Amino acid sequence: MELAAGLAGFSQSANGVHAVLDTGERVAARYLVGCDGGRSTVRKALGVRFEGESGERAMLLGDVEVDGLEPDAWYQWTVRRRGFQALCPFRHERSWQLQAVPFGDFGAEGGLPEPSLPYFRRIVDDLAGGHGIRLTKASWLSTYRVNVRMADRFKVGRVLLAGDAAHVHPPAGGLGMNTGIQDAYNLGWKLAMVCSGVRESLLDSYQEERLPVASWTLGVSAEGLRRVAERFVNGGSTDIADGAPPDGQQLELGYPASSLSVDGDAGNGPRAGDRAPDAPCVDSSGTPRRLFDALRGSHFTLLGFGESCAGPLQDAGTVHRGLIKPVSVGAPGSGADLVDVEGHARTAYGVTGDTLVLVRPDGYLALRAPGGSRTAVRDYLDRVGVSRSA
Ligand SMILES: Cc1cc2nc3c(=O)[nH]c(=O)nc-3n(C[C@H](O)[C@H](O)[C@H](O)COP(=O)(O)OP(=O)(O)OC[C@H]3O[C@@H](n4cnc5c(N)ncnc54)[C@H](O)[C@@H]3O)c2cc1C
Repeated sequence: MELAAGLAGFSQSANGVHAVLDTGERVAARYLVGCDGGRSTVRKALGVRFEGESGERAMLLGDVEVDGLEPDAWYQWTVRRRGFQALCPFRHERSWQLQAVPFGDFGAEGGLPEPSLPYFRRIVDDLAGGHGIRLTKASWLSTYRVNVRMADRFKVGRVLLAGDAAHVHPPAGGLGMNTGIQDAYNLGWKLAMVCSGVRESLLDSYQEERLPVASWTLGVSAEGLRRVAERFVNGGSTDIADGAPPDGQQLELGYPASSLSVDGDAGNGPRAGDRAPDAPCVDSSGTPRRLFDALRGSHFTLLGFGESCAGPLQDAGTVHRGLIKPVSVGAPGSGADLVDVEGHARTAYGVTGDTLVLVRPDGYLALRAPGGSRTAVRDYLDRVGVSRSA
């Protein structure tokens, strides 16, 4: 890792990427991931379109110093029809972050005045006046422009985009950073596997799976902002949390339509592409162990519910050693790796008969298959290109 060095440009060929840093240094790599924010140099250099719309400047942002407040809480003021303001102290520093949406100041042609300390002071007086609060200093001040835009492709050759470089949207619901982290989580294991020898086509599933999630995020956050703004202006609820969309935690999002999701049984629990559920179990010594503990790591996990899973679990530990971790799940006295004492795991996975569940490194179901199926896992790996055949 090289801190304080920017990417100035790059070129790519069939075999790799050659990047040039603004220090003059050259870096050769197999892949390049542009995580360089909404103004992404990487995205622009690729010529990828950033489709959508940009609004007027709509929010004031800045790091400021404040007199008259104890730095023990995040303070928020909502004043009907006039606006919203928040001051959040940074731990162990004198600075606070200021955020404000002063509706009364939006110009006839939209937008806000240029940021300046006198202007920010007036906003604080207007929205939080009468409490002896005074801005004394600012290290930076800015106005935030609402953008609702996303890249039309997340991958061009050996170069990929993630986070704000791939999608930007209103902060309503607090989804931006979380969506970017999930991009990285989806891409990370695929890049690692491709670099260790599996077929490069695995990387195509990154855009296939994450582009629809970005599109969903743009839609719900734009709608959340519209809802909050309308209520503020029209005198309805002033609860900023009203901008949160249904499933704001994004736990229900998944990849059921992905080419990596294969349903091979008729169980009634989560399907391939859904997020793998957790369950409280114990290990063979009786020590409490969560099912999520077994999933932790960069490997696939094969969960085997029932005795007929013994063969496929054995293959996972031998033929697919290092790629798949086999974990048997069974009733007390079954000798399973995870003892499902109360039956929570069977219930969470909707297991009615012997069942194999292959879980991806990022915690989503890859495959469901009948327990005795000796070829299901191998066929799956061949089909999605995860067997080390390159
Ligand atoms: C007011 C506001 C409130 C928000 N609240 C939330 C919230 O509650 N929850 C949430 O999940 N999200 C929230 N977000 C969104 C969140 O801040 C962003 O989605 C997130 O920071 C994006 O992370 P990123 O790493 O993709 O991009 P960035 O945070 O923009 O990071 C990109 C980095 O790349 C660097 N860079 C740029 N160009 C180059 C180059 N050429 N070479 C090298 N480095 C480069 C930049 O210096 C920067 O460090 C909020 C956003 C705003 C504006």
